[in-house]
Amino acid sequence: MKVTLKDIGKKYEGREEFTLRNINLEIEDKDFCVILGPSGCGKTTLLRMIAGLNSITEGDLLFGEKRMNKVPSKDRDIAMVFQSYALYPHMTVYDNMAFSLNMRRERKSVIDERVREAAELLQITSYLQSKPSDISGGQRQRVALGRAMVRKPKVFLMDEPLSNLDAKLREHMRVELVRLHKSLGTTSIYVTHDQTEAMTMATKIVLMNEGKIQQDGKPEEFYNRPANIFVARFIGSPTMNIFEGKIENGRFVSNDSYIKAEPKPEDKVKVSGYEGKRVSLGIRAERFRRVEKEPLGDTFECELDVMEMLGKEKILFTKLPNGQDITISVPGYLDYVPGNKYMFGFDLDALHFFDAETGLRIN
Ligand code: ATP
Repeated sequence: MKVTLKDIGKKYEGREEFTLRNINLEIEDKDFCVILGPSGCGKTTLLRMIAGLNSITEGDLLFGEKRMNKVPSKDRDIAMVFQSYALYPHMTVYDNMAFSLNMRRERKSVIDERVREAAELLQITSYLQSKPSDISGGQRQRVALGRAMVRKPKVFLMDEPLSNLDAKLREHMRVELVRLHKSLGTTSIYVTHDQTEAMTMATKIVLMNEGKIQQDGKPEEFYNRPANIFVARFIGSPTMNIFEGKIENGRFVSNDSYIKAEPKPEDKVKVSGYEGKRVSLGIRAERFRRVEKEPLGDTFECELDVMEMLGKEKILFTKLPNGQDITISVPGYLDYVPGNKYMFGFDLDALHFFDAETGLRIN
């Protein structure tokens, strides 16, 4: 089911400001759309409006072609999974999963078939007669998913469903959720503040900040072509390095003059339009290259301050002579010694230019 948001806004009663404004979004049928953003940006508010749990102050919400603004939650054909699994502790897993179908007075044979089908897919068949207190957190989360699945909703809504699980289990459940989505094909809208969940599971990411959409698109677009400095810094770990400077004779020169960068040929026209103006240059940590001898092109020398060994990579926290920090990621097998000085260059096609005033992408 396609979900469309047209100029959606939300103003809570008693609040002066709108919490959300001008939200325009098309979530295609079968999409796994992840709404991502820092705490308080309005993700849950948006999801609850789609669910019918919050009223919509302005704009239109459509499921397919149908306007849903005033349709009660129970008639929206959605199922929601929350961070707290909210299972009934006195009921068995089976009865928890069957609950909504029992409420709808479905036939027992239909209920049994749906519960067993979902349990099979989620690999919880052997726990069907257990109580929630007798199974692990990960299994409980599967039950919560199963309970949503048996309703065969048109749209799945999930609000941080993995945030109560430990890191390993979260990693495992991410893959499970993607598999589940592939086999069910149900349009899913998933809220999280975790960029890894968004990057790994989404067919479409919507990144929000302060009640506005900053960018929406495919995960790789976020990484390779962030629309503004906020997106650039939110996506990717370590955080993208940002240098402040200006364009001089068509090339970037940082305020401290330590970083000089020539835009790649296809970006020259756009960048030279900023001649003499303030510009921010973004470079991801993994796009620096060690240069040993005579430097080729734009390079700089920095002192290795702190090093984090993460196994497959090392994160180098370095400083330019003027004290500016640069974070560099290198393969874990390379030797680096804190206190030493190193020379680095960077890839031409790794440069992200932003208008320093608006924060918007230039190239
Ligand atoms: P988190 O990840 O912390 O849950 P979020 O991005 O989901 O954050 P929301 O919970 O949607 O953000 O909150 C967005 C803003 O709306 C916050 O400033 C919050 O205080 C406000 N807000 C949320 N619910 C209400 C409410 N019922 N009444 C008034 N203001 C609210």
